[in-house]
Amino acid sequence: MPKEQRAVFLSQDEIPTSWYNIQADLPEPLPPPLNPGTLEPMSPEPLFRIFAKELVAQEVSRERWIKIPEEVMEAYRWVPRPTPLMRAYKLEQFLKTPAKIYYKWEGVNPAGSHKPNTALAQAYYNKKQGVERLVTETGAGQWGSALAMSSAYWGLKCRVYMVAASFRQKPGRKIMMETWGAECFSSPSNNTKFGRGLLQKDPNDPGSLGIAISEAIEDTLSDDKTRYSLGSVLNHVLMHQTVIGQEVKKQLEILDVRPDMLVGNIGGGSNFGGFCLPFMGDKLQKKNEIEFVACESKAVPHTTKGKYTYDFGDTAGTTPLLKMLTLGREYKNPPIHAGGLRYHAMSPIISYLIANGHMRSIAFGQKEVFEAGVMFARTEGIIPAPESAHEIKFVIDEAKRCKESGKAKTIVFNNSGHALLDLAAYEAYLSGKLEDWEPTVIAYPSFVK
Ligand SMILES: *Cc1c(COP(=O)(O)O)cnc(C)c1O
Repeated sequence: MPKEQRAVFLSQDEIPTSWYNIQADLPEPLPPPLNPGTLEPMSPEPLFRIFAKELVAQEVSRERWIKIPEEVMEAYRWVPRPTPLMRAYKLEQFLKTPAKIYYKWEGVNPAGSHKPNTALAQAYYNKKQGVERLVTETGAGQWGSALAMSSAYWGLKCRVYMVAASFRQKPGRKIMMETWGAECFSSPSNNTKFGRGLLQKDPNDPGSLGIAISEAIEDTLSDDKTRYSLGSVLNHVLMHQTVIGQEVKKQLEILDVRPDMLVGNIGGGSNFGGFCLPFMGDKLQKKNEIEFVACESKAVPHTTKGKYTYDFGDTAGTTPLLKMLTLGREYKNPPIHAGGLRYHAMSPIISYLIANGHMRSIAFGQKEVFEAGVMFARTEGIIPAPESAHEIKFVIDEAKRCKESGKAKTIVFNNSGHALLDLAAYEAYLSGKLEDWEPTVIAYPSFVK
C-alpha cells in the first residue's frame, strides 16, 4: 500500500464562508429568463410568489462571493460538513493504472447525497421570510429526503410530489420523508388540477420530473404562506453547492496535488456544478488547464443530443423560459434506475459551458454504468448511487486509457451519494434483468429565440 493518505479531512473551521457565483466570471451574461407570454426578458418580481425573495436575488446576482449566513454555517456544521476527499487506491491497484484517482464523498450525511447543501440554505431563507410550508418535487427521492430533513431542522412544513415510477420503486424514500415529518405524494396526484387531468387519461401514468414540478407549483400558488423549492438546475442551487468544490480545492492543496481532470454526473447540474465551478472560474481566467467532463445517461441524453434553446422547466409549461440544453419538456420518463438523471433539460450554467466548449459531456448506458458501480463497491467499499456510477464508468475508462498510454493523469470526481435506498437497481443488475434504453425520436421545443 502506498503510504499516502486514504482520506483528507478538514476541520469545521474550514467550511467555506461564502458561496462562489460563476456568473461574475462568465465571458458574457447568461441569456436571461423569458416571459413565456411575451418572449421578452422577465423581471424577477413575479417569481417572489414562487420562491423566497433572497433566493430570487441570488438567482440573478452577478456578485462573485455571497456570504453564507451564520445560521446556515451552523446548519452545515450540523449536517455535518466538511466532507472527506478520498483516494481510490484499491480501484487504482485493481485497474493497474498509473492514474491517480480521488473523489469527494458527499454521501456521508443522513440524507445520503449532496442535496442538503442547498436544501438547508433554501429552507433557511424561507423560514427567515416567514414562510410556513415548502412544496417541491422529487425524482429518485433524494431531493425530497434532503428537503424533508432540512424542513425538520428549521421547523417548516414540507410537501413532496414524487415521480410515480420512483414512488413505486423506492418505498423507503417515502418512509424517510414521513419520518422527518414531511408529506409525500405519488405524482401525478389527485391534489392538483394538472395531476387529476393526467390520471383521468392514464391512472398508471409513470409521471416525470416535469409533471411533478407542475404539480408542486400549482400547489404552491394555492396558499399564501407556501413557497416552492427546487433542488437543481437554477443558478442559486449550483451556487449553494460550491461549498463542495471550494473544500476540494483546499484538500488538494493540502496534498499538493493539481488535477488534470474533473468528472461528475449531470442530472440538473447541481452536484457537478458545485464541485467544478470554483475550478472553472479559475480556468476562465486562464489560471488552470483542467479538463471538465460531465457524464449523463444515454436514456436522457440532454447535453449530448439536446438542443441549446429556450424551454420550460416543467411539463405543463408554467415556468419562465430558460435557455438550456433540452430534449423538450414532454420528454417521456425513460425506464432507468438513475432517477436523478431523468430531467429533460440541463441547468443554464452547465448548458452554457458545454454549448460554448468550456466542458464536454458523454453519455453511458445503464448496464455498463452498474458494472462500474459494482467494481467500485468491490474495491472502494462504497455502493455508489446509480447517478454517481455514471462518472465512475468514465473514470474507470479513462484510467484504462492512462494504462495504455502510460500517462499518469490525476483524476478527481464528485461521488454525489450512496445507493443504500436504490438497492433494487443493483439487484436488477446482479440478476441480469437490467436493460439499456435509448430514445428513437426526440420532440425538440420549437422556440426560435
Ligand atoms: C439528485 C442527484 C443527482 C443529480 O442531480 P444534480 O442536480 O445533477 O446533482 C446526482 N447524484 C445524486 C446522488 C443525487 O441525489
